[in-house]
Amino acid sequence: MRVDVAGRAGRNVPRFEDEPMSIVSTEQRHAFEVFPKRDLAIVRGEGATLYDESGRAYIDCVAGVGVASVGHANPDVVSAVGEQARTLITCPGIFYNDVRARLLEKLASITPPSVSRAFLCNSGTEANEAAIKLAMHATGRRRFVCAMRGFHGRTMGALSATHKHRNAFEPLLGGFDFVPFNNVDKLRAAVSDETAAVIVEVVQGEGGVRLGDAAYFAAAREICDAHEALLVVDEVQTGFCRTGRFFACEHHGVQPDILCLAKAMAGGVPMGAVLVGDGVKAEVGMHGSTFGGNPLACAASLATIEVMEREGLAERARAKGARFADAFGRRPCAGVRDVRQVGLMIGIELKERARPHIEALMARGVLALPAGPTVIRLLPPLVIEDEALDEVAARLHEVLGE
Ligand SMILES: *Cc1c(COP(=O)(O)O)cnc(C)c1O
Repeated sequence: MRVDVAGRAGRNVPRFEDEPMSIVSTEQRHAFEVFPKRDLAIVRGEGATLYDESGRAYIDCVAGVGVASVGHANPDVVSAVGEQARTLITCPGIFYNDVRARLLEKLASITPPSVSRAFLCNSGTEANEAAIKLAMHATGRRRFVCAMRGFHGRTMGALSATHKHRNAFEPLLGGFDFVPFNNVDKLRAAVSDETAAVIVEVVQGEGGVRLGDAAYFAAAREICDAHEALLVVDEVQTGFCRTGRFFACEHHGVQPDILCLAKAMAGGVPMGAVLVGDGVKAEVGMHGSTFGGNPLACAASLATIEVMEREGLAERARAKGARFADAFGRRPCAGVRDVRQVGLMIGIELKERARPHIEALMARGVLALPAGPTVIRLLPPLVIEDEALDEVAARLHEVLGE
């Protein structure tokens, strides 16, 4: 059955017992839908390829929204998860655990030197929730400065730090001010001795793939220090090799007080983390999570990070990003206003709405994301083959026109 773009057709249509299950209509009947659905049911993945229920292959430049950086069904992640599932899946934070200990040590070794301890959770929004609570507790202050177009998650605390999606839920947490991203003067004017923290992304993902520059992050560090405010860097989307460095803050040498991670960190298994420096203290009982730091996710994350290190995925993201820029940029596209890219985090801003072009790409076997109304965002697995990346560039040329 075909559905409209909003995915609403077929809702409340009864299914007869002898009718074979349709994935689309079953989801439509039973899901509490909050997503702008596409008419495609994905059932299997391998590397940078996804397959629908009829076996048709797609080049995946969504990657679970920047999650599957080591590729779908990565054999190392698959075997680590399988082995850990047979050994121990759950172990609450009240006990120590071997796999968790190894992951914590690994995270401390790969993240910037300004952070050294991690609280493990299950998603990006939870990492930001923890960051907000820890910043309040560490500073005794309750005001935050965040960026316009910034995105930090959908739960009430993280949403309070997020610029969009908030109107229906006001009042949110008080004391959150928004200033234009990458603007030093506006940031300086907004931060005061009442500021607990500045919360920013290195590259705004959901906000349209917008890059901050080195001078901005150096100034943010200096402004925070001058007011004894904390600098919270949200690398939920940019972290784990996406931008051509293990963490995007390495591009600018910025040293965060609190670093938020999630998306790609466990190869697709849900996991988040907030890392803090020695200056940020916690008290027993002030935060927690039932699932956070469970051995299954820790094993998946360790395997994922080992793949990233062994296969040099940061360098690969840089090289493949350059290859794509060359292939796509070689021919001018009439509909393109701007291309913004770091590694394999790619935003193509159009002069018109992106969604019809994303649908046209899907019809040609390429899955892409929007980032705001006029930006096509590509976040392919970092293991994507050169030929697949060249094909993405070719399909984009077809869809966007000469
Ligand atoms: C996706 C994202 C989040 C939220 O992560 P969830 O796992 O969906 O809660 C937070 N911050 C940034 C920068 C993100 O890209």
